[in-house]
Formats: sequence, C-alpha cells, structure tokens
Amino acid sequence: MRPKQPIGQLKALFAEQVYPDQLGRYSRHKLAELAATHGTPTLIIDRDVLTEQYQSLQAALPGVNMRYAIKALPHPAVIEHLHHLGCGFDLATSGEIQRLQQLGIDAKQTIHTHPIKKDAEIRQAIDFGCRLFVVDNSHELAKFVPHKDRVELLLRVNFRHQDAVVDLSRKFGCELTHIPNLIEQAQQAGIRIVGLSFHVGSQVPAPVAHVNAIEQCIDVFNSLPQVDWRVLDIGGGFPIAYNGPALDIVDFCAPIHAALQQVDPDIELLAEPGRFIAGPSAIQLLSVVGKAQRGAHTWYYLDDGVYGTFSGMLYDHARYPITPLAQHDMTQGLKPSVLAGPTCDSIDVIADDMVLPDLAVGDYLVATQVGAYTLASATDFNLYPKAKVLCLNGQLMAQ
Ligand SMILES: *Cc1c(COP(=O)(O)O)cnc(C)c1O
Repeated sequence: MRPKQPIGQLKALFAEQVYPDQLGRYSRHKLAELAATHGTPTLIIDRDVLTEQYQSLQAALPGVNMRYAIKALPHPAVIEHLHHLGCGFDLATSGEIQRLQQLGIDAKQTIHTHPIKKDAEIRQAIDFGCRLFVVDNSHELAKFVPHKDRVELLLRVNFRHQDAVVDLSRKFGCELTHIPNLIEQAQQAGIRIVGLSFHVGSQVPAPVAHVNAIEQCIDVFNSLPQVDWRVLDIGGGFPIAYNGPALDIVDFCAPIHAALQQVDPDIELLAEPGRFIAGPSAIQLLSVVGKAQRGAHTWYYLDDGVYGTFSGMLYDHARYPITPLAQHDMTQGLKPSVLAGPTCDSIDVIADDMVLPDLAVGDYLVATQVGAYTLASATDFNLYPKAKVLCLNGQLMAQ
C-alpha cells in the first residue's frame, strides 16, 4: 500500500499529469459513439498516427532504413499499413514470418533479429527469403554453417543503457572483446558477418547510449578492416511520453543522427523501432462494470485490466494515461479512487492512486498510448476475451 496522501496533493498530481488535455486531440463525442456502437473493451488503432510516428522518426533519422519491430503490436492492420508506407520489418519468430506471409509481404526488407533460435526457425526464415540474421555467440554462429551461402549475419553487441525502462542487454549481446574471436570463427567456417547491431534498451530517457554504441561500433569497424562491413543496425529504444510533457523525437534523435554522420557512407543504416511507432497509435475504450466503497477509496471495476491490454504494466513497466470519457467538473466532488481490472485476481489493479470525479456504472473511460507491448502480451485469463480491435484513419480527431 502507498502511504495515504492528502487529497489536495493527489489532485495536484492528477490534474497536472493525467487529466486535463490528454484527450485534447480526440473527439469525446466520436469516442462515445464508438463505445456505444462497438461496446467495450475496444482498442482503437489509428493508421494516421502510425503514419505520423513512422514519418517523424524517419525524418529525424534521415538515411536510416526502418524495420518495425513486429512484436510491439503485431496486428495485421499495423503491419499492412507500415508496409504500404515503405517500412520494413524486424521479425524474431516463425509466427511473425507467417503473419507477413499471410499478408503477402515478402522478405525483401526484413531482418531476423532474434539472437537465439532453433534450426527449424532458421530454415523457415530462409525459406521465407530472409537473408539477414543476428547472432551473439559461437553456438549460434555454428547453426549457420549449413546455411552459410544463403545468409549474412550481424553480431549483436551488448551496450546497455543503465536508465532504460526495459533492459534488453542483460539477456542478449556479446561483449566488444568477443568480436574478434567470433569474426575469426565465422571466417574459418566461411560465414559472412557483414555488420553490427545493438539494442540499448526500450524507452530510454536520453540518446546518450545510442551515441556511445554507435561510436564504439565505428571503432570496431575501423579496428577490423579485413571484414566486409556493410550494415549498422541501431535497434530500437526510441521513447514516447506516457505521462508528462511530450517528447520531441527530433531533439532525441539529433545526437544520434550526428553520430551516424561519422559512419562510412557505404554502410547501410538500419533501426528497429517498435514502441515509438506503435505506442501512440492506439487508445482503448473501457467501461465501469461495478463500483464499491472500500475504506476511503471508491473502487471502480473496469472491463479490462492487467491480464488484458494493461499487461504492459507488468511486462513493460508502463503506466498508461487513463481518464473518464465524459467531461467532468474537476474543481469539486473529486474522490480518491482505485481502478481495477475485471478478473478475480487481486494484482489486477491498474491505478490505485487516482483522484476522480464520481463515476457511475456504465460510464466510459479512455486509456491512451496503449499501442505498444499491450494487446501483444494480453491474455484471456478467467476467459475474459481480449479487447476488440477497431482500425480507423484519423476519424477520432476533434477537427
Ligand atoms: C523489442 C525489440 C525492438 C523494439 O524496441 P523498442 O524499444 O520498442 O523500439 C527492436 N529490436 C529488437 C531486437 C527487439 O527485441
């Protein structure tokens, strides 16, 4: 339990960080219509936002070829739309390959980024047409001996950002000092290593880790000139604003762009954004199913929670902005409130520190920034179905 706070403090926190203009760009009226028509819980993906996110990142990193990390939000409509925009794909599993195949998308602009895989998965990816793979150790390198004429490999190097919300370098990536041995092993086996990749961690607060990693990759390129270096893949990690002020991706990427200017212009640059593209593209409509007064708190039981779209609270350490759909008087009648998910498990609470106006059973709420690592990791625990998905093209916006 968190320590009890005076309501004034909670209200200040709440008013500043969560409530006021979170829905500013959306039309509350249109959202209410959708909730009434389609029911809740409904996740709404806006293709226009996907376009905006993709194009703004591409503009902030000119010369870098984007490979959307499918795992963030593998919905077919998202993949199809990004393909239509010219974006390639970072895939990691045979399931993700099947999804591309079902959509008729070929392997031309794909990279298989999982450092650890079964031989059958390697074969499936090669059959699909994927030619660029990632390894980070000698056991994995050995798996490519039978496929050496059909693949090119990147070595994934471990550069970790100590402040990343999600650390991806604990589990994958070789040390810089191991690179010469891996290169030697590959050369002896006749396997082509053509580049380096890294992932500094997801939702990093600053670009410093990307910049350091790029500089160290350049040092590796220079120190091993006998290798035919052709690719540098800077991974993902690009952050979005969950609560607090919006983040300017141009500012975030400027130092990364500057560091990339030092890379040999013949080396192809790749990035693997997941969260940045998918996160802002979806919002979710929920309903109040039940209500109870427990001690000082009003508990609202919603129709989705941490076993569903809000699974990212556990797996991704995220907290999503959530707010009542109807406009309320925020100057009076506010109460300390808890928002709970529908399941019978007590961990299923999505906010235990909110100050809310009095809501009624049947009222709608809206959660924003719920596109990345949300539906992708949702379960049907208690056999509650996952949120229904709607795809629109900007029709939610106020203008
Ligand atoms: C998950 C993942 C990404 C996407 O990371 P974001 O921080 O969401 O941009 C990119 N590359 C690899 C290898 C990943 O595992």
